[in-house]
Amino acid sequence: MEILDKLKILADSAKYDASCSSSGSNRKNTNVGIGNGHVSGICHSWGADGRCISLLKILFTNACMYDCKYCINRSSNSVPRATFTPREVADLTIHFYKRNYIEGLFLSSAVIKSPDYTMERLVETASILRNEYHFNGYIHCKTIPRL
Ligand code: SF4
Repeated sequence: MEILDKLKILADSAKYDASCSSSGSNRKNTNVGIGNGHVSGICHSWGADGRCISLLKILFTNACMYDCKYCINRSSNSVPRATFTPREVADLTIHFYKRNYIEGLFLSSAVIKSPDYTMERLVETASILRNEYHFNGYIHCKTIPRL
């Protein structure tokens, strides 16, 4: 699966993760103004100084091993599934950052294989960003508890 197809699925899945998500609609330019609205998984948060910052808001995976009845990602639900690799998330974050689309990453996830396996992938993602790409921007990273 192409990375942009994954992004479409996993940005859409992330909109159910409660936050201040603010880019949930497509809106074409009408030729009387500037800009387009796009469902790209970008949400906003606020820094300690009160400044509004844009975040790439995605799930690492929506292929959950659990079946919580209230959840869109439950294993019994018939929805398209996708899983990023840590490198893919790190690369998306860096490329979006360099294009000035975002200032940080909001990374949540369903649970794939096991809580530990999932947590290790999230930590690996953050490690690539911090230690390899030297990304000093904001990272919100979900912790996956054992059930
Ligand atoms: S573990 Fe989380 S992502 Fe998975 S089904 Fe339950 S609530 Fe949804």
